[in-house]
Amino acid sequence: MHQGEILTEQKGKSRLGAAPQATRGSLRQEAAEKLANPSPASAPGNSTPELLHELQVQQIELEMQNEELRSAHTAIEKSRDRYADLYDFAPVGYITLSAHGTINEINLTAAALLGMERGKLIQRRFAPFVVPENTDLWHQHFMRTKHKREKLSFELALKPDVGPVLHAQLDCLPADDLVHIVLIDITERKRMEKEILERRNEMAELHTLHVAAQTAAAIAHELNQPLLAIASYSKAALMLMKAETPDFGKIAKAIEGCERQSHRAGQSIRDLLQLLSTEEFPTEEFDLNQEITDVLETARLEHELQFDSLLRLENDLPPILANRAHVQKVLFNLLRNGIEAMQDAGVPLPAITVTVCTKANAGVALVTIQDNGPGIMQEHAHRLFEPFFTTKAKGIGMGLAISRMLIEENGGQLWMDEQQGCGATFHLTLPFAS
Ligand code: ADP
Repeated sequence: MHQGEILTEQKGKSRLGAAPQATRGSLRQEAAEKLANPSPASAPGNSTPELLHELQVQQIELEMQNEELRSAHTAIEKSRDRYADLYDFAPVGYITLSAHGTINEINLTAAALLGMERGKLIQRRFAPFVVPENTDLWHQHFMRTKHKREKLSFELALKPDVGPVLHAQLDCLPADDLVHIVLIDITERKRMEKEILERRNEMAELHTLHVAAQTAAAIAHELNQPLLAIASYSKAALMLMKAETPDFGKIAKAIEGCERQSHRAGQSIRDLLQLLSTEEFPTEEFDLNQEITDVLETARLEHELQFDSLLRLENDLPPILANRAHVQKVLFNLLRNGIEAMQDAGVPLPAITVTVCTKANAGVALVTIQDNGPGIMQEHAHRLFEPFFTTKAKGIGMGLAISRMLIEENGGQLWMDEQQGCGATFHLTLPFAS
């Protein structure tokens, strides 16, 4: 409706209240007649000047009403424009489809997502914008929304007129024989989800590789010592055999040494594999003082390690509960590390002090192994228990990592004494049987 129309219409209404439009002309006529032929019998209030005055009053009144209408109209237009903007530039796409699946209405966001001008999209079918792999899915959901009046949410891949495939989330709402669609571009979210999945797979692969590398290194660590011992026993046996008068007694001892070390290697690998698997390992009650004495003896005799030892063992120590092979392995690792450090540093009198006592109120035995070697450099201290950390030319860097794992698996703890002083000091705890 034009403003002129509003003006004319309102003039008619204002003069006669709710008078029909047909009376508009007669109002003007009546007024004009009264002005031209003032009735002699007319009341004093009906004189021409009075009528003129009345008309002027009504004209002003009508103009005021017209002004009000005009501003109401402007407000309505503004509000309509605002809603049009909200519809067109909403962050999500809005599409209204006919029952046949053609586009009746579409906002600018949805048109941009479909890669086509809005004008060209009207009356076009929506289905061709769906990638062929999703056509069935689209059809099923459209039918369900249309016929079963269901409100559905689902994801679809769309092929815009220009540009790459986009992933969208569609919310379909039934309305009479129309279907309203809210279209949300989720391409970026999909890309990020894919990237996260790829990263996760890469991480899992790296983790598997890392675990494999650590397992291989742990096995190498376990085999290293017995193999070295077997090599020296074999060398000795060969030399003895090549002598003019071979000493068969010594040869037999060297071969026995080889056999013992082979068994030790086999046992170490079995222990390690058992530990790495989730299998429960056997534990038993035993005397820790006796075990430490035996390990020192074995280190001297079987591994030919040269060192002085000072034992400070607590009397009447209650039996501990642990896996004996694990405890032996850890004690031997710590002992050998100390002796190697002292030998490398050329300490003339390698000495090891082993103290065993009860840790007050904690229900555990505390073992302290201290050497008189060069000690641990401060910058290495925080890395000692990391797998593969070594400062030795032929080291593998798994001894302390495995030792800590073994002690923790047996309910204890293993740590290095941070106090800087002469030599290195390691502490470990093990639980008592009761
Ligand atoms: P590896 O013996 O193969 O190097 P470990 O895990 O047993 O592996 O030891 C890691 C590192 O800790 C050693 O390379 C060494 O630098 C340091 N370390 C361990 N024990 C001692 C010790 N008693 N004195 C000095 N350094 C030690």
